[in-house]
Amino acid sequence: MPIAAKIFSKVKRIANEQVAGSVLGGIIAKKISGNYILMYHGVSKTGSTRFNSRHASIVCFRKQIAFLKKYCSVISLTDFADGKFDPDKPNFAVTFDDGYLNNFLNAKPVLEDYRCPATFFITGLNEVNDNILWADFVNIATTLTNAELKIDGETFRKQGNCYFSQDSGKSIYEIIKHQRADYQYKLKVKEAFANHVHFQDDMEVKEYWQLMNDQQIAETSHSTYIKIGSHGYYHNNLGSLPHQVAVDELVRSKKYLESLVQYEIQELAYPDGSYTPQLVQSARQSGLKIQLAADHFLFNESPDNTNIKKRYGIYSVDSCLNQLFTAIKTAG
Ligand SMILES: [Zn+2]
Repeated sequence: MPIAAKIFSKVKRIANEQVAGSVLGGIIAKKISGNYILMYHGVSKTGSTRFNSRHASIVCFRKQIAFLKKYCSVISLTDFADGKFDPDKPNFAVTFDDGYLNNFLNAKPVLEDYRCPATFFITGLNEVNDNILWADFVNIATTLTNAELKIDGETFRKQGNCYFSQDSGKSIYEIIKHQRADYQYKLKVKEAFANHVHFQDDMEVKEYWQLMNDQQIAETSHSTYIKIGSHGYYHNNLGSLPHQVAVDELVRSKKYLESLVQYEIQELAYPDGSYTPQLVQSARQSGLKIQLAADHFLFNESPDNTNIKKRYGIYSVDSCLNQLFTAIKTAG
């Protein structure tokens, strides 16, 4: 980027931070039109991008929720699905994926302060005594080791900040998401890394992967503002699994969460936005009435599709309010 453009972009970023809290924030909000479902992941103390950009800082998160509550209409996912929009304002629903402990510790108090409705989408990993999502494990372990890995007989070497198969040339993420989407393969990946790196006792790293326990999930479900939804059972890419296996996983996740929260789980966010049209139908028949993709649809869905809705991800790669404006701009 040329220097002048860089300066302009920086000034614009700072300006956005300033205006959001002033009367101009209202003018900006008036220029936003439409209805959006936001997708957050973590809310950490510093919003560090050391491992990935999925954790907003507490300061940024508070600014974003303050802006949304002041100038926009923030509604529950149920109202969003029912089309109960404020016609005079842009409408937002707020969602969180993965069930991090930092959602409980850092996001929940802000949501309650601002009386902001939200849904937390959670997996069933606690029930099988697994304590870390595969994507976090791979992100963090890859950052912390350079060792050559053998996974199920295949050799992987690190290039940049990613492991690639020396046989197929495919990245470890591509293989886990599309080729070997089952849970057993994830256990093999973890085992291969575990020979070279151990980070699970490191308190600083813990903030970026630790999940809520059953008691914290139950406590969250009692909040007036937060609803619990399913994020699959093992965080597998459900669209890459055989149909019946994916359906069984959704039913199992629904049952597990219902045993904790004492109400019917009707909301589903597909892990990694991975689904099939057939799975959307089956999930609906299983009672998962509100279904969400990730940053984009995988199939050619019609804009008024009521079965599955698109979300706009918030990533900690820009200043606080630009994270929000970028998500909205992407939508436009
Ligand atoms: Zn997820």
